Amino acid sequence: MKVLVLNSGSSSIKYQLFDMRDESVLAAGSIEQIGEPGSHLSHALPSPQGGMSKTVRDLPIADHRQGFALIASVLKESGALADTGELRGIGHRVVHGGEQFKEPARVTPEVLGAIRGLIPLAPLHNPANLLGMEVAMESAPSVPQVAVFDTAFHQSIPSHAYRYAIPKKLYEAHHVRRYGFHGTSHRYVTKKGAEFLKKPLDSLNLISLHLGNGASAAAIHQGRCIDTSMGLTPLEGLIMGTRCGDLDPAIIFYLERETGLSSAAIESILNKESGLKGICGVNDMRTVGELAKAGNPEAQLAISMYCYRIKKYIGAYHAVLGELDGVIFTGGIGENADFIRAECCENLAHLGLEMDNRKNRGRQEGCFALESRASRVKILVIPTNEELEIAEQTVACLGG
Ligand code: ADP
Repeated sequence: MKVLVLNSGSSSIKYQLFDMRDESVLAAGSIEQIGEPGSHLSHALPSPQGGMSKTVRDLPIADHRQGFALIASVLKESGALADTGELRGIGHRVVHGGEQFKEPARVTPEVLGAIRGLIPLAPLHNPANLLGMEVAMESAPSVPQVAVFDTAFHQSIPSHAYRYAIPKKLYEAHHVRRYGFHGTSHRYVTKKGAEFLKKPLDSLNLISLHLGNGASAAAIHQGRCIDTSMGLTPLEGLIMGTRCGDLDPAIIFYLERETGLSSAAIESILNKESGLKGICGVNDMRTVGELAKAGNPEAQLAISMYCYRIKKYIGAYHAVLGELDGVIFTGGIGENADFIRAECCENLAHLGLEMDNRKNRGRQEGCFALESRASRVKILVIPTNEELEIAEQTVACLGG
């Protein structure tokens, strides 16, 4: 049973083809710079030595329609998929499902209309996700398609956590509330965490920390999300590569008055020039780590601020969860950066978290545990796999 997962951006389409009998990856790749001069295809196949072997081809790719046709033809050429008719389904990543979508949805004209209606909430992402779905539906009309939403996992958050303390008409008329993102990743790692701990997910209280270029925390109570750090948009919460995270909202008005910058210019600064990059000039945590080690005070401050913010969320979510069974680190930083994991968990023994520093070394194969024997709370590193989660949810939605 084969499932194709597509993540369609404004000028790119990422894809992964799974054999869902054993969840193996049959092919993976991306088309980048669609409609631009440097358009190209990267295509990777499992190599006999293990891992994936990648080839890159420069090709003119005018639009998403041509991009989809190219993906179908390279999958065929490589023997991974004889024909799209072989697919059990196509799963699409969709960033914003608003309040309507609490679960994945089979793509129908009504569902496409509802996703279109949510464009004001995700003006950069939902149009590109829609385009990917429309093209795939046109090109493979007999294959069932499923939309899997980044926001859906957070729809179980209660109103006292998702409402902002602003006039209620702004919620009612303009849908201003916390939605949260990275839901597919938080769902996947909490599920894997329960498997690793050999306990039913609905018996566990977890804090999931997705630390990649974007970063968010989620509080999971008996398997259901009850709070998350991203809000109406992915700007709120933790410090990220280039996003500021939590901020006094009055800073925006102050900057407008003091600098004469437009709100659009300030929005761009908060999204693209802030976070680690704003504090120390670089947004890649590997470089920040190297600079800090070499004694750069700004990089050291960036790391201290980054971990301090995470620690505050661990404390807050511990308080609202009551009992805490485990903290999960995932995403490029969570999976690799031992110095970040160590600093986030430092001096938390009073909350039951004690790391065994000998176990906290870089990246290891699969899931691994970092807590000491004395620790009441498990500390886990769980590699995320959003594509596989989308494929699994696609199969579940189609009743397979
Ligand atoms: P995205 O959110 O774009 O999917 P990733 O989850 O791949 O991003 O995370 C990217 C981040 O992970 C970058 O800041 C990168 O520096 C960091 N990262 C990756 N490998 C390491 C490593 N070995 N040590 C420290 N940071 C790492």
